[in-house]
Amino acid sequence: MTTVATDAVMDYDEAVAKFDPVLGLEVHVELHTATKMFCGCATEFGAEPNSQVCPVCLGLPGGLPVVNEKAVESAIRIGLALNCEIAEWCRFARKNYFYPDMPKNFQTSQYDEPIAYEGYLDVELEDGSTYRVEIERAHMEEDTGKSLHIGGATGRIHGADHSLVDYNRAGIPLIEIVTKPMVGTGERAPEVAKAYVSALRDLLRALDVSDVRMEQGSMRCDANVSLRPRVGEPTSEEQLAVPLGTRTETKNVNSLRSVERAVRYEISRQAAILDAGGTIFQETRHWHEDTGITTSGRVKSDADDYRYFPEPDLVPVAPTRETVEALRQTLPEPPAQRRRRLQDDWGYSDLEMRDVVNAGAVALIEETVAAGASPAAARKWWLGEPSRRANAEGQDIVTYAAGLGLTPAHIAELDGMVTAGRLNDSLARQVLDGVLAGEGTPTAVADARGLELVQDDGALEAAVDTVIAANPDVAAKIRDGKVQAAGALIGQVMKQMKGQADAGKARELILAKLQ
Ligand code: ADP
Ligand code: MG
Ligand code: ZN
Repeated sequence: MTTVATDAVMDYDEAVAKFDPVLGLEVHVELHTATKMFCGCATEFGAEPNSQVCPVCLGLPGGLPVVNEKAVESAIRIGLALNCEIAEWCRFARKNYFYPDMPKNFQTSQYDEPIAYEGYLDVELEDGSTYRVEIERAHMEEDTGKSLHIGGATGRIHGADHSLVDYNRAGIPLIEIVTKPMVGTGERAPEVAKAYVSALRDLLRALDVSDVRMEQGSMRCDANVSLRPRVGEPTSEEQLAVPLGTRTETKNVNSLRSVERAVRYEISRQAAILDAGGTIFQETRHWHEDTGITTSGRVKSDADDYRYFPEPDLVPVAPTRETVEALRQTLPEPPAQRRRRLQDDWGYSDLEMRDVVNAGAVALIEETVAAGASPAAARKWWLGEPSRRANAEGQDIVTYAAGLGLTPAHIAELDGMVTAGRLNDSLARQVLDGVLAGEGTPTAVADARGLELVQDDGALEAAVDTVIAANPDVAAKIRDGKVQAAGALIGQVMKQMKGQADAGKARELILAKLQ
């Protein structure tokens, strides 16, 4: 039995009144190239352990690496999309450290000569304002293998009786994207952090360079946080002139919501220490999704400890300017421009569009409209129940829908059934419930649950007659011209028909009979 001491934390509002947070985000993205960074091994996720390995990615003596051209192209396209300079000449470097899942005992990475540097990404915040995240660099490296700890309760090394290593992931191309210190966010630091990772994920998806599945580890985020004394407004000159405090680096924060929560927690934790006269040590920390706290990892190594030196087995990467310009032509429409175009096409108000962007549902709605739904219906259905449930699960809508197998085609099908008069709104909601419960496509759910509007006009007319006969007072009011009174009768007709009547048709019939 071990007890973990929980750190004291300061109330968040008090923390950001006393201190000015500064962030730095490092995002690792696995490229979805067919082969690894320096050898021809396959990269497919979920293969038999150690079936996608060779002398090069196992680091056997004599194995010689060759750079994956596709990976370099992806790195350059990412750099260009992030408004970076692209190096005319750069090298790989060996980052030396021992870890069982790293068979060469060094990671082939880039150090002081990254392929892309000095860029920015404009990120839209919830209130519609924009924050510019300065990008320090995007560099190429390779992933490590994966350790599996057997015998413990938690899957962590602690308490395990042995460990297994799978080298299939060793050597998969990674791009690490590092921001400059993000200043001037004030209390909105957690929101800005999340918005940046979300915008970056959208951009990488649009570039089609990675699966960007945070839950599968193809996109991973480390969050650096430091505090400095608060002396004025977050963007004021006095405030920006205060030297940066010591940072902690919280590792592997693997969902958008966790990014926000981890940053918020670190701000409260560090504030309590500094306020009590304590010191922040530069260390890595671990995020615990379940308890919502970070705990101390290891004391951070300095770059010196890694004994970086240029990789002697690889030639430098020197993309010609023609190549770079040709790759620039392959970039997708910039996200902000795309958003404006889609808003125009869909006829959404600013507020409606902002809701869609904040829900992370732009791409889903685009695909749903392409599958035949109206933009209004696509927005209504995605931002309704699926969005509410994703929130309740602490997931973003894209991940949540993918996990349930809910697709844009399903929503378009549902909308089609409503437009064709086969479902009314409340039946459509029940059908969607069935789809969310994994019962199949909307058509299959409607069939299996018997959810379909009764198309038999005779049945509807009989119900209307019964209801009119049972409510002579209401009927008299309608005859006197009080058309609003029809609502009460429609409700009863719907009840008689177990919700499976077209309310519009029922209304027409009632009015026709009473006027
Ligand atoms: P490391 O090797 O420690 O991972 P990197 O240079 O890769 O270092 O990344 C460090 C990240 O932390 C960068 O995003 C950088 O902008 C950010 N950073 C540096 N100093 C601070 C600070 N004082 N407070 C917050 N973030 C910082
Ligand atoms: Mg780093
Ligand atoms: Zn290999």
